[in-house]
Amino acid sequence: MRHSLYPLMLVLGLVSAGFHASAQSPANQDEVVGALQNAALKSDMAWRLLASLTSEVGPRMAGSEADARAVRWAVDNMHSLGFDRVWTEPVTFPRWIRNRESAQVLSPFAQGLAVTALGGSPSTDGPLEAEVIQFETLAELEAAASRDVAGKIVFLSQRMRKTREGKGYGETVVNRSRGPFVAAQKGALALLIRSVGTDSDRLPHTGMMSGSEPGDRVPSAALSNPDADNLLIMLDHHEPVRVRLDLDVGFDGEATSYNVVGEFDGSEDLQQRVLLGAHLDSWDLGTGAIDDGAGVALVLAAAKMTADLPVRPVHGTRVVLYANEEQGVYGGKAYAKLHEKDLDRLLVGAESDLGADRIYRFKTRLSPGAKPVVDSLVSDLGRLGIAYEAGEPAGGGADVGQLRKLGLPVIDLNQDASRYFDLHHTANDTLDKVNPENLRQNLAAWVTMLYITANSTVDFGPVEKSE
Ligand SMILES: [Zn+2]
Repeated sequence: MRHSLYPLMLVLGLVSAGFHASAQSPANQDEVVGALQNAALKSDMAWRLLASLTSEVGPRMAGSEADARAVRWAVDNMHSLGFDRVWTEPVTFPRWIRNRESAQVLSPFAQGLAVTALGGSPSTDGPLEAEVIQFETLAELEAAASRDVAGKIVFLSQRMRKTREGKGYGETVVNRSRGPFVAAQKGALALLIRSVGTDSDRLPHTGMMSGSEPGDRVPSAALSNPDADNLLIMLDHHEPVRVRLDLDVGFDGEATSYNVVGEFDGSEDLQQRVLLGAHLDSWDLGTGAIDDGAGVALVLAAAKMTADLPVRPVHGTRVVLYANEEQGVYGGKAYAKLHEKDLDRLLVGAESDLGADRIYRFKTRLSPGAKPVVDSLVSDLGRLGIAYEAGEPAGGGADVGQLRKLGLPVIDLNQDASRYFDLHHTANDTLDKVNPENLRQNLAAWVTMLYITANSTVDFGPVEKSE
């Protein structure tokens, strides 16, 4: 890593911005935050970390050899960034592997289909051939008679909407998470879904079926959006459409990976730290740049820049890079279980896991006593074009949200997700899709949030436990 110039550059930047090390007054805080923002808007630290992770490790599916390399990458980088302490915590889960996957229309219009197996899918145990029966939504499949579905390949054709908040994902991901189980209940042989994604590339989107559904599941795969369109047109001819599906995938014992944890101390010996989270694992098709390499790079860089200040904020920072988020939030759940009893060591938590496009709003879930912090965030994040969404409480994200459920106060920095689900879980999730300027705006927002919260002595909690 070549980060050695950063501390010096940052200090010089702060000195020239008129930084005075001794005071913590609000006026002085504004100067520190302003200087941090300026430094972040010029910094390529997050970009370099992201380029390092995506090239030196690349795809890092949970439980794979590359996942183990990602853990070593994280430990090594935390050490070279100068974290005060670094450790790992084991996370165990069922290992799922993908060997081979293909699909073809056999009749009436023979041709190949671009598919990828859904995580958690069983193998077809050799090619499986059957007629396709199409439904738009999972609810339609649930309402169908088993006699119509039995022995067929179910095709769920619902299309995901593109929105800035990413709301379309929640509307359609149920096809992926529960579809394989409902299809099995109806006696289907297999499931094809239209990818849960908003692009028109001929690249299918993988992703996990629900890990916790009881009962059987059928072999399941996602079609790219154009392939789903093509299949719909064939089905319009009202002749039986027969498809061959060949998935050599499945669970293969248990694996252990690690949550990687690093801490920077604050300037005072206070118990509580600000928690920054992202997940270290990725799917196997791309290099995991937007999901969630960007989040990993951002929380590391934000912690480093803030710790390199001439005077650190009074509270320390804890960065957690979670294991196996993709296949069932295993790292986030293991962390919450292990740390439930020492939750009071954390001041507030936040997570970056929605790509790397511009942050446009923020949300909070804090006690009323934290209003001065919210006021500072409104003003300082406002300078970066980030508005406060006061009407909706923060959720904390998939991993940090496990602690929010236990009562940890949380803050969400929401990225514009319009483009995220074009790339999410596809072979197109690669570094070139990250806009360096947007990544710097993210970093500026993260250092702002981190400095303001870590340097505050107000009570952030308690907040209600929530599901
Ligand atoms: Zn993610």
